[in-house]
Amino acid sequence: MSNLENNLKIIDKLAIGVDLGGSKIGIALVKKNGEIEKYVKIPTNAEQGKELIINRIKQGIYQVIEEKDLQINNILGIGIGAPGPVDYKKGIIHCAPNLPEWTDVPLSNIIKDEFKIPVIVENDANAAAWGEKSFGIAKGIDDMICISLGTGIGAGLILNGKIYHGKNNLAGEIGHIVVNKEGPLCNCGNYGCLEAYSSASGIKNRINNKIKELETESQVLPPLLNFDDISLAQIFEMARQGNQIVQDIVDEAIEYLGIGIASVVNILNPEMVVLVGGITNEGEKLLNPLKETVFQRGMSSHLQDLKIVFGSLGEYAGVIGAAALLWNYN
Ligand SMILES: [Zn+2]
Repeated sequence: MSNLENNLKIIDKLAIGVDLGGSKIGIALVKKNGEIEKYVKIPTNAEQGKELIINRIKQGIYQVIEEKDLQINNILGIGIGAPGPVDYKKGIIHCAPNLPEWTDVPLSNIIKDEFKIPVIVENDANAAAWGEKSFGIAKGIDDMICISLGTGIGAGLILNGKIYHGKNNLAGEIGHIVVNKEGPLCNCGNYGCLEAYSSASGIKNRINNKIKELETESQVLPPLLNFDDISLAQIFEMARQGNQIVQDIVDEAIEYLGIGIASVVNILNPEMVVLVGGITNEGEKLLNPLKETVFQRGMSSHLQDLKIVFGSLGEYAGVIGAAALLWNYN
């Protein structure tokens, strides 16, 4: 085989994955074995509006192709993971939390018109789940839940080897399982959702509310901090260093997460629960108490072979999974 033929053979196997987030956009050129050939991360600048964001996505795609000296016709296609409900059959983003103006955007057709190659748009949690299933910790596993723990809590469901979308592409909203009917107000308008306890925003809100409560009761105040500007890692560190208020809220966040996971495990009987997102940096300090709660609360018959693990693709699960939609999608 000549060098040229050899190169073309390799090039033929590349796809582009895009992970569209509220604060950043990841764009990667991905090989068929899941390896990233080239990756760029650009700011979303959501406040600048839809058109400019779409232009930045296009520029980023051109950038990864050109920096590897490729042509667009060497690329198999483009997969895009986007927040919020996505009609994956039509490639339409219905709405996207944190992205103003993004209502019923036919992103698939817009990108296809530019590059003239196949484009698939999926929900971002589904794309991350597909990445872990295709090339990550859940490789070869046909029944798994991939939970994204971040500002909010979402999940991608892989059932019988396929992404489960539900009738209106709304499946997987694990963050809005009600874990306490008298719990705090959630972003969705309901009370006591898992997201209001165990997401980064939920944990911060609860700490802020607790501080206000103590202020009105004229009790001894914890160090006055603006928790909105603090990372989840810093909050966990404060808990470890003995700040009792923070410790209690973090412990409850993990406990409620375990209760939520146990409920989903009872319903879906997965082989594996994969946790992804920034909170996974906490490692065993998060995983051990979480597993304890799941194993206390779940049905013993469902727990025998259950694996609860962190994803292995880190922040790249979304771009790798989006690219993988081009090769082995259902
Ligand atoms: Zn909710």
